[in-house]
Amino acid sequence: MTLAYAFIGLGHLGGNLAASLLRNGFAVTVFDRDTAAVERLVALGATAAASPAEAASRAGNAITCLPSPKVSETVLAGPDGLLQGLPAGGTWIEMSTNGRDEILQLAALASAKGIETLECPVTGGVHLAAAGRITALIGGDTALYERHRPAIEAMCTKSFLMGPVGSAAVIKVITNMLAFIHLVAAGEALMLAKQGGLDLAQAYHAIVASSGNSFVHETESQLVLNGSYNIGFTMDLALKDLGFALAMARDFGAPLDLASRVNAIFEEGKRAYGGGAWSTQIVKLLEDAVGTELRAPGFPAKLERNPSEI
Ligand code: NAD
Repeated sequence: MTLAYAFIGLGHLGGNLAASLLRNGFAVTVFDRDTAAVERLVALGATAAASPAEAASRAGNAITCLPSPKVSETVLAGPDGLLQGLPAGGTWIEMSTNGRDEILQLAALASAKGIETLECPVTGGVHLAAAGRITALIGGDTALYERHRPAIEAMCTKSFLMGPVGSAAVIKVITNMLAFIHLVAAGEALMLAKQGGLDLAQAYHAIVASSGNSFVHETESQLVLNGSYNIGFTMDLALKDLGFALAMARDFGAPLDLASRVNAIFEEGKRAYGGGAWSTQIVKLLEDAVGTELRAPGFPAKLERNPSEI
């Protein structure tokens, strides 16, 4: 039997994930406080609901993709929240990025109402989500994972069951921490290339084919070279994730020198350009400090394709 889903949080990431469910024939009932986002999904075949509770009671299972644990708590357990609408035996699938303590607290709220939680943050960026090819990191019960696997596979090419609820948050925060470190490093690499008199397009391609390559260089460096910086992910979200990484570092007793430094750089980026600026714009701090732009012709304003196809 094909399950139906409520989908709450139709932003840069969630809008693309919900669209993948629709493309694959799932019935999706949507809610977002941004009515334009709801209309975009209704145009693709979704049904609109007046609240998370209404969406959940119609669909029987609910997915969220929201900006912070605080918002997830409101949507889950607030008045008119999912727990008011989900039937016994329904599942809450949380695709937002959370810290481990935060997802454990939220899952406990759901559990107290007889609702099981599947933790399912994703990684790879908006362009892979748009193609239904993002990677899912799963925390939760194996049978629950299997029950919702068709929906997860409609949105994500790869999925990794990491362990119980909370374990996906740890790996998700780790991979984002790596991505932000790689981003700052890629910006420094391109600046060194520019100041060293290299052709930046040729330097980009040489790095892609070198031992210094990274997923972030392959993808985000293109947006720096274009000048759009448009990765569909904001400074505020980067700082949220780095905050989770530093909190885990304290809790787990793992000193993180690089992550601490990169967190300070992102705080400076937020002060300079605002929390709503694209996270890729962090490289502009270096451009502004040196007084030069890292631009080259032939790079897209938005990532449309898988890096391996570029
Ligand atoms: P976003 O800000 O683009 O989207 C969030 C959506 O939630 C918006 O449409 C907003 O209107 C909606 N919303 C906020 N408060 C609400 C409420 N109370 N009720 C209903 N809707 C509400 O953020 P995003 O970039 O889509 O990220 C969403 C989550 O996914 C975050 O936790 C982020 O860390 C994570 N994530 C994002 C990306 C990415 O590339 N953008 C990648 C991986 C993980």
